[in-house]
Amino acid sequence: MKKGLLIVFSGPSGVGKGTILSRIINDEDLNLAYSVSMTTRSPREGEVDGVNYFFVTRERFQQAIANDELLEYAQFVGNYYGTPMAYVEKMREEGKNVILEIEVQGAKQIIAKCADATSIFITPPSLEELERRIRGRKSESDEVITARIEKARQELLETDIYECVVCNDDLDKAVRDVKDYLLRKIEAE
Ligand code: 5GP
Repeated sequence: MKKGLLIVFSGPSGVGKGTILSRIINDEDLNLAYSVSMTTRSPREGEVDGVNYFFVTRERFQQAIANDELLEYAQFVGNYYGTPMAYVEKMREEGKNVILEIEVQGAKQIIAKCADATSIFITPPSLEELERRIRGRKSESDEVITARIEKARQELLETDIYECVVCNDDLDKAVRDVKDYLLRKIEAE
């Protein structure tokens, strides 16, 4: 069986990555598997352990690093985030196209070590619109919100490491663009 694609999917906080993903994740033509990350951040309201993230202590995360369990990891606004390797490998071996929703430092690690990875970055229509969306989420402290906006500014300077950049100014169009790009990659395999 042909090994599945490894897809890096990035974009700043509040850009709508999750919404775009929710619209394509069960698309039969794309045959995707979502890689659930490990994080030390606390769950937001409605987030479920093992579904949105594996929520772990810093000690457990350090242990995962030491045991070489993670394909990549990074610190983001004071917390650790990382991709458990075993699931990604198993799904790819089964022919699934595995999607990693990760930030830029992690994306760089994947691009450097997995030559066959494909990568997509979602941009906002403007930084002002992004700030409005991040502030509108209201689930975090002002300090964390400010740090996320600063992080977004930095991430938007690094989009040239990605193969494909899609602007989410119109959700339906962004979903179509991401899907079309992935279909082309799948067909080219
Ligand atoms: P959030 O706290 O908003 O869920 O995630 C913060 C950032 O961390 C987002 O850009 C998200 O895509 C990224 N992220 C989530 N999981 C991982 C991961 O496993 N590795 C890395 N490097 N980033 C991740």
